[in-house]
Amino acid sequence: MKLITALELELQRLGRGHARQARRSIDSPCAPYVEVDGRTLLSFCSNDYLGLASYPRVVQAMHDGVERYGAGSGDSHLGSSHSNAHALLEQKLAAFIAPHLESPRALYFSTGYMAGVGVLSALAGRDVDLFSESLNHAALIDGARLSRAALKIFPHGDMDELARMLAASNAAIKVVVTDSVFGADGDIAPLPELLRLCEQHGAWLVVDDAHGFGVLGENGRGVLEHFGLRSPYLVYIGTLGKAAGVSGAFVAAHETVIEWLVQHSRPYIYTTATAPALAHALLTSIDIIAGEEGAARRAHLRQLIALLRTQLNLQRWRLVPAETAIQPLVTGSSEEAQETAARLYEQGFWVPAVRSPAGAMDLTHLRIGLSAAHTNEDIAQLAAALCSLEQSRHGGRKDK
Ligand SMILES: *Cc1c(COP(=O)(O)O)cnc(C)c1O
Repeated sequence: MKLITALELELQRLGRGHARQARRSIDSPCAPYVEVDGRTLLSFCSNDYLGLASYPRVVQAMHDGVERYGAGSGDSHLGSSHSNAHALLEQKLAAFIAPHLESPRALYFSTGYMAGVGVLSALAGRDVDLFSESLNHAALIDGARLSRAALKIFPHGDMDELARMLAASNAAIKVVVTDSVFGADGDIAPLPELLRLCEQHGAWLVVDDAHGFGVLGENGRGVLEHFGLRSPYLVYIGTLGKAAGVSGAFVAAHETVIEWLVQHSRPYIYTTATAPALAHALLTSIDIIAGEEGAARRAHLRQLIALLRTQLNLQRWRLVPAETAIQPLVTGSSEEAQETAARLYEQGFWVPAVRSPAGAMDLTHLRIGLSAAHTNEDIAQLAAALCSLEQSRHGGRKDK
């Protein structure tokens, strides 16, 4: 059939460009050691930064939630399936993030992707200029596309250019949107500067803190706590499928913004509410993040990052400076990164080779994702494997 042939040709083209992605099925919980095809691998892939995805207290809370609320929710939130667990979670999240926002309320979305799309499509209407950072996550890109706003892309980290663009805008409503931590490279957006510009130009600042929530800040409140920011202009998105170890996401902002989303955000309205058990489990996750256990896990994670940096004694390859759990390793060429990932996999380490979309690191590199569930020994093993792979590839060659 012609239609199938056309798709097959396109897929073959993807394959030749090494852009075709394959899935591997794992047969164990999300943890440092995972079972894949009958092998046990030491994984540095997940975004489970605090190791809560299979943490006994969180797993038990999920069981309790299922006992109490059953498996599925049955309807949408505005229909009949906004449960007590969902409501309690929103209250807990609003109270947690409250030091950084004015009159905050929180809204729980089924996924971070839907939260990004749901905020931008509801907040940025026809009369809006929407300023979007060039390396934003797909959720924000798609949200911008679905909005009716005039889309203006500003270059990665370029505050001077953004200032010029804001000054040149005559729109009555302006929205600036950015990732907080850029997912491929692990660098952090200059949020104090961004917020200053937004306040100066009367613009909303939508921050997607998917990689920062739970990880950054002394109490795990994320990037706003990391920088000590508070403003009525902030609209905050935190995912609950990464550091919080479960699933879903939340938007926190002034209560009026949240009420607007409840009434207008189609990805919130036109979908079945997530299983209340997820929200119930998240109550425990947030308690852990906000408490002493969370602080200890963040301290351990920071210690692992430092350990990786000191133990990776590299000659040509280079660990990109990053304060977050995402540690990018640049190997010189995309093909070398892919080969290194394949050698590591043979040796029992699962480290993804990723290509960042553009900008600073327009190369495929290794994305080492650390978790508080890793031990010092895990890091030592990875570092030793990487050092010897670099040696066997470049050893004996003078490189200066
Ligand atoms: C992971 C991620 C998302 C998507 O969140 P999900 O809960 O996985 O749908 C959105 N934005 C950013 C910046 C992310 O890193």
